[in-house]
Amino acid sequence: MVYEKKIRLCFIGNPNVGKSSLINRLLGANKLKISKNPGTTKEITEIIHNCKNRGFILIDTAGVYKKKNVDFINLTKAIKSCDIVILILESTIERLDRLNKRLVNYSLNNGKGLIVIFNKWDLIKNKKIIKKKLTNIFKFSLTQIISAEIMFISALKDIRFNKIFELSKKIIETFNKKIQTSRLNKWLNYVTKLNPPSKIKGKEIKFKYITQIKNFPPTFIIFSNYSSKIALTYKRFLEKKLKNFFKFGNIPIFIIFDSTKNPYEKKNN
Ligand code: GDP
Repeated sequence: MVYEKKIRLCFIGNPNVGKSSLINRLLGANKLKISKNPGTTKEITEIIHNCKNRGFILIDTAGVYKKKNVDFINLTKAIKSCDIVILILESTIERLDRLNKRLVNYSLNNGKGLIVIFNKWDLIKNKKIIKKKLTNIFKFSLTQIISAEIMFISALKDIRFNKIFELSKKIIETFNKKIQTSRLNKWLNYVTKLNPPSKIKGKEIKFKYITQIKNFPPTFIIFSNYSSKIALTYKRFLEKKLKNFFKFGNIPIFIIFDSTKNPYEKKNN
């Protein structure tokens, strides 16, 4: 099914990183219309925008950050309601702070697309070295597989802003991917034979069947014995392999293990 709805982009980032500047640049000369979503609060506004025949809703959270204490709950509500989180960071940071770590984890655990924007790129002199440094700061601050696109831009000086919309469209296309069950099972058979998990009390874990149960985010169920005992490291390993093999790029995907009798067994025999 093609995702025809407007793509919801939620802009988050500490005060003064350039959220408002970026949103203004993205809107350009286009007339903006604030949507009347009943779920939105005074601090969070939604702006409807069209770009290249595609509708977008830009969720502006700048108001949340203007309060004394950042309202984490309000931010997570906005994140939950979006398709893609746009996290804006300054290009001069030395580490990812606690709030942003929490928000990134929240976004990925909730299956959201993530675009990380290092803004104020115009202030950086040694761009090649800093690009590597910032990418590493981001990657090594988190414990999970990093599912994010990273961009380096200047909200004040750049003109390539449509790239954010193009990238968002690509991310949504990836979320829409549906992998054939027969291909998934061939892959599962291959990958688990090559790298089997450790035995559970001397007993082998047998993987019987895999199928994709949904998109947004792509979620797969694997039927096996000892499903609740499979190590998290092995689950992460399979997620990483599946992501790479079926080209899910930088979006989060999920694998669920289940021990119930495979409902498709008859079909297979
Ligand atoms: P917000 O609080 O996150 O919405 O941040 P603003 O958009 O209000 O920007 C904060 C300050 O950073 C303003 O003075 C902007 O002019 C400045 N700023 C925003 N983007 C850039 C950028 O790409 N380069 C530079 N040098 N300054 C920027």
